[in-house]
Order: sequence, then structure tokens, then C-alpha cells
Amino acid sequence: MAAAAALSPASSGDGGAGGRRSRRVLMFPLPFQGHITPMLQLADVLRCHGGFDVTIFQAAVNDAEWARHPAAAAGYRFVTVGAGVAAALAETVPSKGTNSDFAGIILRMNELLRAPFEDSLREVLAEDAVGDDTPAPPCLVVDSTLRGMQEVASRLGVPTLSLRTGGAACLVAYMAVPELIDKGVLPPPSRDPSQLDMPVTELPPLRVRDMLFSATTTQATMVACFECIIESIRCSSGVIFNTFDDIESADLQKIAGGLSVAVYAIGPLHKISAGLESSLLTQDRSCLEWLDKQEAESVLYVSFGSLASMDADELLETAWGLANSPVPFLWVIRPNSVVQGSGSQQGQVSLPDGFEDATRGRGMVVSWAPQQDVLRHRAVGGFWTHNGWNSTLESICDGVPMMCRPQFADQMINARYVEEVWKVGFLLEGKLERGVIQAAATKLLCMEEGKEMRRRAKHFKDRAAVSTENGGSTKAAISMLVELIKSL
Ligand code: UDP
Repeated sequence: MAAAAALSPASSGDGGAGGRRSRRVLMFPLPFQGHITPMLQLADVLRCHGGFDVTIFQAAVNDAEWARHPAAAAGYRFVTVGAGVAAALAETVPSKGTNSDFAGIILRMNELLRAPFEDSLREVLAEDAVGDDTPAPPCLVVDSTLRGMQEVASRLGVPTLSLRTGGAACLVAYMAVPELIDKGVLPPPSRDPSQLDMPVTELPPLRVRDMLFSATTTQATMVACFECIIESIRCSSGVIFNTFDDIESADLQKIAGGLSVAVYAIGPLHKISAGLESSLLTQDRSCLEWLDKQEAESVLYVSFGSLASMDADELLETAWGLANSPVPFLWVIRPNSVVQGSGSQQGQVSLPDGFEDATRGRGMVVSWAPQQDVLRHRAVGGFWTHNGWNSTLESICDGVPMMCRPQFADQMINARYVEEVWKVGFLLEGKLERGVIQAAATKLLCMEEGKEMRRRAKHFKDRAAVSTENGGSTKAAISMLVELIKSL
């Protein structure tokens, strides 16, 4: 959908005509994998479909990973922002896994990056002004969490678009938070399960527990972070979503109406971008050869994204749950993804004695996988996920049903939609125990319930494919977005 609400794009602009160089699009992702990936995919789409030059601002974190990043080789220009505050930025990098205060981190990054970004943006604008041709003024596509950068851009006369890297349902939920606080729904009076399981009647099928951002984020910080996101969208020339009409049409309409902003649903981005590599960690591609040897739709893929963690007990239960289940599995265990009792992260993770023998030939463990290739592999029949939005969308668009173990931020909302709205998976709640994992893996891969979820997921896979073809909603939204950018 490209729902042009109160802000309707003006007529098509110069777009490189009249002796001007092609318009430059500046981009600034939040420096986390789940935000970098859709921004780089969008860069690819804008370059291919609009012929725009793209410059990507990159916060001065993950420097080592960026230095060897293939996108630099693919002709994208990167501008590092905040080298002078690199030490302070490094302190914001989440170090407590799931227990990190992600909303607080976002607010702090905004504070730290604002002044350095102003310097970098001025430099880029000054470079553009040099040369024989009249430069078309650039616009900035900014991650919706980086409201501070948008304010800087606006002050320097640069129009902005906001990229929302989560789903539309999640934003609708965030928009409702002030009302839920007024009504006394949030915060819940206690963390008693009877309180947490109460339905939020304003946002079906969500429950109170789905709205609690993280164990360590205070309500005040959460609200400040949501305000920053919503303001970034409200003050933009349009908001871009990595989603598609068939799964989120009603929520996209609510956003267009509620925030009076033009909405561009141009997902699934990973299916339309030219395949620009966006992973900061090195992917272990040997797992694809291992998958080649497995039967169709037989393998459970297990991965909890780039930030979520588990404790040592959960690692043990997961290992034996997978070992005891009858299904083959491919399990991603990121370095640092296991948190000790002390809160420190265990760099190299050791699996329990006997696990390797018990799973030889039936299981594979890697430290980072080429997830999109894994999910589209014919051998993969189910995904045990934390329900980050990228993972959720990638799974839906490859017809893979999910068992869901959300941990923080929007993951609970995504998982509820997977279970209750799209019905392409089910939640794994409560204490993580081997028997529960074994039963869930069996249900997803081997039982009729799982097969029904797979049929539904395949339906959405087909719908996603249709949306990206000529005449499809995603294809149309991309054309409208390109026209909007030319007109700004
Ligand atoms: N991913 C990957 N290899 C892995 C695990 C994850 O390439 O082994 C990618 C995945 O395809 C997705 C991103 O990392 O695009 C994770 O984003 P998501 O929004 O799912 O979760 P987050 O990491 O932000 O919690």
C-alpha cells in the first residue's frame, strides 16, 4: 500500500533533468544488524529502481565489521559519523543481551550522534555544491529511531523520509501507549501472570505482557523512545515500511490516518533488493551444503537474531530439547549470546558433554548463518525464532512456520501476530525446558498442526511474491516512493 494520507507527494521533480546530477539519497541506519539490513536493502532498491546515488552514514561502532563489509565494494559510499565520540558510542553497544536497556541505548545514541552528524552532513552538502553541474539537493532516509538526526537534517534544509524497520502492527501498538497509560492499563499493577495475561482490548490480540518493552527499560524511557519514533515519522515526508499489504493492510491504514503521513509498504525488501550482502558477522555457508543432504521440509532452523541472549540453563535445556527431539536441526549460537549469572557474556559457548555424540549426523551448530538462504532452502521445514521483525518477515515470505520465543522490544507483538493473526506459528512461553522444546519441535515439523501452519505460511509466501510483481502493491509503492524522492 502507498496510502497517501494528509501529505500527498507533490508532482514529479527534476530527477536528474535540466543538467542536474542524479539526486543523491543519504541514509542513516541505527547501527544494529536488524536495522542495517533493511536500510542497505532499501539502498539497493532505490539505486536500481530510481537510479539514485546513495551515501550511507554509519555510526562509529562496529568499525572492524564495516571495514570488510561487501557493501563498500559494491560502490556505496560510507561516511563514518562520531569517530570523536567512539569510546562513548562503544559503551552504548548492548552488553547484557536480552537484559540490555535498548530504549535507553537508542536515546543515548541520539544524544551522542547529533553534533557529529551535523558536521558530517555539512561536509557532504558542501561536497555536493562543488562541480560544474547543479547538484540536485539530497534527501535523507533516516531510521525512525534516529529522531535527533532528522532534526539536524531539517535545520539544514534537507527533507527526510523515515524508515521503520519493524512491522506496522508494532507501530500501531506504540501509538496507543499514551492512551493505555491514561487508562491505567500500563504499567500493570504487578508482574503477576494474571495481570500480564490480561487482553489489551484496544489492540487485539495483544496482552499486557506483549507491551512490556524489556525487563530493564523503565516506562519513562520506553515512552520517550516511542515519542522519538512517532515524531520522526510525523515530521517526515513519508514513512517506509519493510512489510506488504497482504499481511498488514489494516495497520498501515491506521498509521497513514493516525499520523497524517504518506505510507510506503515496500517489503519484503529481501525479495526485491539485488542481494546486497548486509551481514556484519561472517556467515558460515557450509550449513547450506549440510542442508542439501537433508530431506525436504525436515529441518528445524534455530536462531535468535543478533542481540537476544540465553542463560546457561536455557542453553542446556535447548541442547537436550533438540537432541531428544526426532527432527534434524541447524542451530545458530552467536559468540557472546550466552549470559552468565554475573551478567557477563560467555565468548566461546560450550555445549554439554554428550551432545555432539547424541546429535551426530542429525544436527549442525554454526556461529552465524546465511539466514535468508537457509530459510529459502527446500530442506527447512520450521524456524525456532525470537521474532525480530526481519526474521519474522523472512520466514513468512519463504513459507516457513515458526515456534516463537520473543524476548524484548517488538518481538512479543510480532510473535502474537504470528500465532493469532497470521496463524503461521505458535508461542513457546514459560520456563524453557527440554521436554517442552522436544514437544514443540515435534508439533511444528511432524504433526498436522504444524503442516497446517506451513500451508498458511506458503499462502503468504505466494502473496508476497505477487506483491512484488507488476501490478502488485509493493511494486506500486516503490514507484510512488521513487517519484516522491524525485519531487522533494
Ligand atoms: N541473521 C543472519 N544470520 C543468522 C541470524 C540472523 O543473517 O545467523 C540475520 C537475519 O536474516 C535478519 C537479521 O540477522 O535479517 C536479524 O534481524 P531481526 O530483526 O530478525 O532480529 P534482531 O537481530 O534485530 O534482534
